[in-house]
Amino acid sequence: MAVKFIDDIDVSGKTVFVRADFNVPLDDSGSITNDNRIKATIPTLKHILDNGGAIIAASHLGRPKGKRVPEMSLAPVAKRLGELLGKEIQFVDDCISDEAIEKGKALKPGEVLLLENLRFYGEETKNDEAFARKLGAAADVFISDAFAVSHRAHASVEAITRVVPVCAAGFLMKKEIQNFENAMNDPRRPLVAVVGGAKVSGKLEVLENLVQKVDAVLIGGGMAFTFLKAQGKEVGKSLVEEDLIGTAKTVLQKAADKGIKFVLPNDCVVAAELKGGIPTQTVSIDAIPADSMGLDIGPQSVEAFAGIISDARTIVWNGPMGVFEVDEFSKGTFEVADLIAKSDAMSVVGGGDSVSALKQSGNQDKVTFVSTAGGAFMELMEGKTLPGIAALDS
Ligand code: AMP
Repeated sequence: MAVKFIDDIDVSGKTVFVRADFNVPLDDSGSITNDNRIKATIPTLKHILDNGGAIIAASHLGRPKGKRVPEMSLAPVAKRLGELLGKEIQFVDDCISDEAIEKGKALKPGEVLLLENLRFYGEETKNDEAFARKLGAAADVFISDAFAVSHRAHASVEAITRVVPVCAAGFLMKKEIQNFENAMNDPRRPLVAVVGGAKVSGKLEVLENLVQKVDAVLIGGGMAFTFLKAQGKEVGKSLVEEDLIGTAKTVLQKAADKGIKFVLPNDCVVAAELKGGIPTQTVSIDAIPADSMGLDIGPQSVEAFAGIISDARTIVWNGPMGVFEVDEFSKGTFEVADLIAKSDAMSVVGGGDSVSALKQSGNQDKVTFVSTAGGAFMELMEGKTLPGIAALDS
C-alpha cells in the first residue's frame, strides 16, 4: 500500500483539513477527564503550523446520531487544544454551515479553526459526498489522523478524500500503519501472535488471517477451551462455544497444514465460578474437574509460551490470557505481558483489554508500539483493508 504521509507533502500556505480523533471522555460538568487523544494529534497539528499551514480540525464526539446534543459539543476540546498548542483556537458551532466554510476560507497561516461535532449530522456516518464537499470546501489538503475511525467509511474519513485535491496520513496514523505493516506484512521472523480473550467467535477472522501469516500462535483466555474441546479434552464448566468446535478443528487443521505452531495452554487455574475471593486450583489441562471452569493459564503454559516468545523477533498481542480483571485470575496475563515487554522482539499490542492489561502490568512503555484503537486494529488483524487507509492510497 502506498499511503502518502504528512511529511511527504507541502503544507506551506495551505489550508489543511485535519480529521482528528477528539472523542474524549467528559464528566457531567463537561470537563475532559482524559486528554490523551487530543495530545496524540499535537505532533501533526504542530507540524502543519510550523510549516506555514492553517488548520481546520474536525472530529466526532460520542454518538449523537445525527442530532445536535449540547453535551457532546467539541467546545471543551477547543479550550484544551488551545492550551496544548499555546494559541487561540477559533471554534464554530457547526461543521458545514456557511459560517464554518467562510471562517475556514478566511484562515491565515498559523491559525486553527475547530469545527463542531461531525456526527451532529447523520450524513457523516452515511459517507455522504455532498456533506463531504461542504466539509472540504475551504481545504487544499486533507490529513487523516483519526486511526480509531479508519475502519469506518464515514464522510470525514472516506468521501472527503474524493473532494480535497491532496490527501495524506498524519503522524499518529503513520505510526499505526507503519508499525502494523512492519509487524504483520514485513516482519522479522519468527513472527509470533499471542491471542486471548473471551470467545473464539469474536476472533475467528483474526485467527484465520493469522494462521496464513505467522510462525506461531499462542492461545490463552476463554477461547482456548473451544480449541481444547475440539481436541477431545474435557474442560468442565469452562467457556466453550459448542457451535464453533467444528470451526476450531478447521483452524487447527489449517495451522497444521501450514506447519505453524498453534500452542494451547497445558495447564490452567480453575475455580467453581467466576468471582474473586473463592478457592482456586492449578490443574493440568487433562484434569479439569467437571464442576470447575478454567479462568487463567497456569505456570506451565506460561513457561511454554516463554520459550516461544523469547525466540520471537516480532510479536503481536491481542486479548488477555485469563480473567485479568479478577486478582486470582490475572497472573497469566500479567506474566505474558512481562515476557513480551522483556523480549528483544518488535512488539505490537492492540485491542482494549490487552492494552489495559499491559498498562496494569506496568509494561506500557516497554513494548515497541501500543495501538490507540480497538476496532480498527482488530480489522487490520483480520486482514481487512480499512476504508480510511485505502482512501489515502495514492
Ligand atoms: P475480548 O474482548 O474477546 O478480548 O475478551 C476479553 C475478556 O475475556 C476479558 O474481559 C476477560 O475477563 C475475558 N476472559 C479471559 N479469559 C477468560 C476465561 N478463561 N473465561 C472467561 N472469560 C475470560
